[in-house]
Amino acid sequence: MNANADHALVLFSGGQDSTICLALALARHPHVETIGFRYGQRHAVELACRPVIREKLAGLRFPGRLGADHVIDLGPAMAAVGETALTGNAAIALGADGLPNTFVPGRNLLFLTLAAALAARRDLRRLIGGMCETDYSGYPDCRDDTIKAMQVALNLGMARRFVLETPLMWLSKAESWHLAKDLGGEALVALIIEETHTCYLGARGARHDWGHGCGTCPACVLREAGYRAFRGG
Ligand code: ZN
Repeated sequence: MNANADHALVLFSGGQDSTICLALALARHPHVETIGFRYGQRHAVELACRPVIREKLAGLRFPGRLGADHVIDLGPAMAAVGETALTGNAAIALGADGLPNTFVPGRNLLFLTLAAALAARRDLRRLIGGMCETDYSGYPDCRDDTIKAMQVALNLGMARRFVLETPLMWLSKAESWHLAKDLGGEALVALIIEETHTCYLGARGARHDWGHGCGTCPACVLREAGYRAFRGG
């Protein structure tokens, strides 16, 4: 057990935060694999971004460290448990709570459990995710306490010593951009702007100076504000 204590599995959605986490993991660990989940319309866009980002990141720095990618299809399971835009013909929209109607409660708990099961099989000790509660705490399953409780539960339930790492947990979005620049310079910043997807509404949308998106949903507003702060504007 734990023969590969430095080997990591990154929960990689194709978004800005998980891309920065993947870059950080490649800088820190000799072997890094990625896991993603297919379960809805919005993420179909993210999923299309993933292989492009992986290929470009691997070429940017740290060659030879990026290992296998694992995409888990949760579509029918998520549709069965959620009255969401995934289950019918309803358009993806934002609810009064500011969360998209594709949101499934406890989604990250499920993701972490599946990631840990895969990591156990692949002998990867470190599970790395882009959860963050500094700028946006709409998702209770992204909170630091939730992640710490999940580490305890997974280690007890699987008799392992996983380490759950959330390097962005206490960073502002501007600080996350600075971390990206420290890791890979303007080339990594440009990669994130051009290739990652954050917008809730799915479409790639117009190309703004901070990246693609509708420009008005909470995720786009947060991404733009973080980028402006990063650039000092
Ligand atoms: Zn948007």
